[in-house]
Amino acid sequence: MTSITDTSDLKKYLETYDGPEVRIMEVCGTHTHEIFRQGIRNFLSPKINLISGPGCPVCVTPASYIDEAVYLALEKGCTITTFGDLVRVPGNVKSLQQARAEGGKVKVVYSPIDAEKYAKDHPEEQVVFLSVGFETTTPSDVISVQNAIKDKINNFALLTANKTMPGAYEAMASSTDAYLYPGHVHAIIGTQLCKDMAERGVSGTIAGFTGEELLTALGITVMKLAEGKPFFVNAYPRVVTDAGSPAACAIVDKYLKPCDAEWRGIGMIPGSGVELKDEYADYDARKKHSIPKMEYEKKTGCKCGNVLQGQIKPNQCPLFGKVCNPDHPVGACMVSDEGACSAFYMYGGQS
Ligand code: SF4
Repeated sequence: MTSITDTSDLKKYLETYDGPEVRIMEVCGTHTHEIFRQGIRNFLSPKINLISGPGCPVCVTPASYIDEAVYLALEKGCTITTFGDLVRVPGNVKSLQQARAEGGKVKVVYSPIDAEKYAKDHPEEQVVFLSVGFETTTPSDVISVQNAIKDKINNFALLTANKTMPGAYEAMASSTDAYLYPGHVHAIIGTQLCKDMAERGVSGTIAGFTGEELLTALGITVMKLAEGKPFFVNAYPRVVTDAGSPAACAIVDKYLKPCDAEWRGIGMIPGSGVELKDEYADYDARKKHSIPKMEYEKKTGCKCGNVLQGQIKPNQCPLFGKVCNPDHPVGACMVSDEGACSAFYMYGGQS
């Protein structure tokens, strides 16, 4: 492997790389934005193709999930508590923002713990938290249920759309030559999965989030790809250990069980989600409030699915920057701060 001693050497290596063309998928939306923000795309050799993958939780949440939340707000009179970016995501019929304008109660909170606290302080309301995210945030979602049990309140529930990365890594493996694995996910689940993936021929590097960490991970990835053998490197060892966080995994295992999950624009990935176990059905909004199945899928022309699978870049979507922009998002990838379309729009739609 070429020896690189500092970031200016790394930058030069990535700028002047002239080996075989490589595709690297940055799975995580935070990586996508940070790579843009640091200007890394601007100097990469044209032989290094970065693909923005499915790691933005809002972007991969299906429109039917928003329909369920709207139903709870307008038909069941529930108070919806959520992070801000989900409020503007279009559902098949309307967004939560529109539901709020029609009298639905939609409250932005900073954490699921705050949502549970709100429920405790407002016993007259049925409060539902929109539980959307990956391994990084799921533990705090289940802690809110744990708190509700401890506080003996029965007016709090989760509407789950939590997803797990292993299924997505498998499903996307043919779209990339190597993954830039999200450091915060692997701080929870550890490194064994990546080692197993490398055994099965799927390469990747765990990356941190600073410019230097991203440059290092990208440099390692390109150099290792040039060697032509499947590999795994943990380039974020200051945070990611082999074991991850057994305590966080244990609390998730206590309350949640695996389920099939629908990914917006990608489809159903077997075993790629988690839902509350049957014994916690009182905290499962779908069961508690008898939400009907939301089957309707509106055709919008949005190409989020192709973007999330690396088949096109956001600026190749015919709607990009025309009818779809951050003020009027057609798809979730333009809504979320972590979305690839939003990143392309914000940073000039380059490369
Ligand atoms: S630009 Fe808008 S419509 Fe096109 S893929 Fe992105 S979010 Fe969807």
